[in-house]
Amino acid sequence: MKKININNLVCPHVLNMKAYSSARMEYDGKEGVFLDANENSLGSVTSEIHNRYPDPLQSDLKNEIANVYNVLPNQLFLGNGSDECINVLIQAFCRSGLDKIVQFSPTFSMYEHAAKVMNIEVLDVLLNESDFQINTNELFSTLGKSTNTSSLKDENKNEIKQGVVKIIFICSPNNPTGNLINKNDIEFILTNFDGLVVIDEAYQDFSGNESWLNRLHEFQNLVVINTFSKSFGMADARLGMLFANSEIIHFMNTIKMPYNITQHTIQLGLEAIRNLSKKQAFIIELLKEKRYLNTELNKISTVKKVYHSDTNFILFKVDDANAVYKYLLANQVIIRNRNSAPLLKGCLRVSVGTQQENEKFIEVLKNYN
Ligand SMILES: *Cc1c(COP(=O)(O)O)cnc(C)c1O
Repeated sequence: MKKININNLVCPHVLNMKAYSSARMEYDGKEGVFLDANENSLGSVTSEIHNRYPDPLQSDLKNEIANVYNVLPNQLFLGNGSDECINVLIQAFCRSGLDKIVQFSPTFSMYEHAAKVMNIEVLDVLLNESDFQINTNELFSTLGKSTNTSSLKDENKNEIKQGVVKIIFICSPNNPTGNLINKNDIEFILTNFDGLVVIDEAYQDFSGNESWLNRLHEFQNLVVINTFSKSFGMADARLGMLFANSEIIHFMNTIKMPYNITQHTIQLGLEAIRNLSKKQAFIIELLKEKRYLNTELNKISTVKKVYHSDTNFILFKVDDANAVYKYLLANQVIIRNRNSAPLLKGCLRVSVGTQQENEKFIEVLKNYN
C-alpha cells in the first residue's frame, strides 16, 4: 500500500475546520417533531413535497452506490455533478494563489476552470501527439522544475509558503481524444508522485477496461471520479461521484456546502443505481452505433482521420474544421469543434446518438463539398 500523509497534504486551514453541523445530525430517529431548521412544516407550494432539508451526507444513496462499486460508503463523495467533486477536491487541497495542479492537454476543461477560479496555477503537460498518451519524462521534468514536496510544514512546523503541486488530473478515457491512458504510466505516476492522482472515469463504462477503483486499496493517493451524466443517461440530475480513501473524503465533507445534493436528486440517484441493466443495454446500443459511425466516417472523403475511441464519442479530423462545423450547424447538426485545442487542429468531436441521429449526421456530412 502506497502511503502518504493526507494531513500534510490538505490545506492547513481545512485541517482544523469542523464540518457544518445541524441539530438533525444529532438525532437519528425518523419520527419526531422537527422544529429545528425553520422549515415550513405545513408543506410545499408545489405538488411534490420538498419542505424538509435533505440528508447532508446522502447516506441511503451512498450505501447503495458503495455496494455496487464495491467500496465503503465513507470512501465516497457525491457532488452536484462531477464538476462539484473536482471543485471541492481542489478547494480542500490547494491553497489559493500558492499551490498548483497538473493536467494533460488536450483534456476536459473543468480541471483548469475550477483551478483558475480559485487562483490555482495549472501546469499543462501536452499528451504525445502521436498517440495521445502521457509523456511521463515530460511530467516529472515539469514537476522537478516546480517545488514538489508533499509536506506543507518545515522542520520547525511552520507552514511552507511555497507553491506545491498537489493534484495531477488524468482523464481516462480522455475527453476529447477518446483514448484510455496506459495503465503502466498511471501506475508509475501513482507510485512516484506524492500528491493526489485523480483518474476521471466519466467514460469508463464504455471502455470495457478494468476501473481504477479496484486499485483504491493499493494507493492512498488515488482518487477516482465517475458520473451519472453519461452511461446512466442522467446528465440533468447533476450527480457526480468521487471515490478515495476515507481521510480525503472526510476533508471534502468538512468543506462542502451542507445540502449540495437535493432530495429530488437523491431519489433519482437511487432509481438510477437500481437500474443497472438499463445502463448495460444503453452501453451495448451506443457501442453498436459507434461502430456504425466509425465505419461510415471512414468512407467519407472529407474525413482525413478517425481516432480510436474508448468512449461514447468519436474524434475525427478534417482539413477545415471550422468550415465543416459551420456547415453542419447550418444543417441543424450540432457537434463539437475542437479545432483550437492543443494538438487538435482540424478536429471535430461527435457524440454517439440514436440510430436516427447518427444516420442524419452521416448523411449531412456526406454532402459536404
Ligand atoms: C462529461 C464529463 C464529466 C461529467 O461531468 P458532470 O459534471 O458529472 O456532468 C466528467 N468528466 C469528464 C471528462 C467528462 O467528459
